[in-house]
Amino acid sequence: MADIANEVRRCEAAGVDWIHFDVMDGRFVEQITYGSPVLRCVRRATELPLDIHLMVEDPTHQIDLFADAGADIITIHAESACDVPMCLEKIHERGLKAAVAIKPQTPAERALDFIAQCDMILVMTVEPGYGGQSFMNEMMTKVETIRRYADENGFSKLDIQVDGGINADTAKTARTAGANVLVAGTSLFKAKDMRELNAALKG
Ligand code: ZN
Repeated sequence: MADIANEVRRCEAAGVDWIHFDVMDGRFVEQITYGSPVLRCVRRATELPLDIHLMVEDPTHQIDLFADAGADIITIHAESACDVPMCLEKIHERGLKAAVAIKPQTPAERALDFIAQCDMILVMTVEPGYGGQSFMNEMMTKVETIRRYADENGFSKLDIQVDGGINADTAKTARTAGANVLVAGTSLFKAKDMRELNAALKG
């Protein structure tokens, strides 16, 4: 726990804007990561916005737990076994920002169905579940489709997030396609100079 708090403080010192917290349940994806008690520790370590990515089979009952633990943004998957509009409403009722994520095999339209209820759409640029995979360039057409649709339909404030395989090169590709929130894990933590890489990711 002390380690996680230290890593969060390192990110803060490097100028990171948000902390992205991957929650995996061993069912929606094979891996298991953290639950809401760990988020409480992170909350105590930083005032940065905490962005929770729920890669879980049914997020319905996780929303209150993570809201209570200090989440600022909660993302649920369009492919999860829940009532997506109801969950997005529940997130907003807790005063948090709400987002929908889509896996690589899922078309952009699945997320666009919920755009009126979304502060952000997350386009996964790797298969969820494991760190260190390479960025899927072909996902950029989905980012472009979502950005175009948002601009043409009165949702120009929509954030578009990409998650997976982000480094200085792919960050540029993602920004050009219309993404404005980039999640970096491996590249940031392995960087010789975290502050320098963070600046490069932001462009
Ligand atoms: Zn994530």
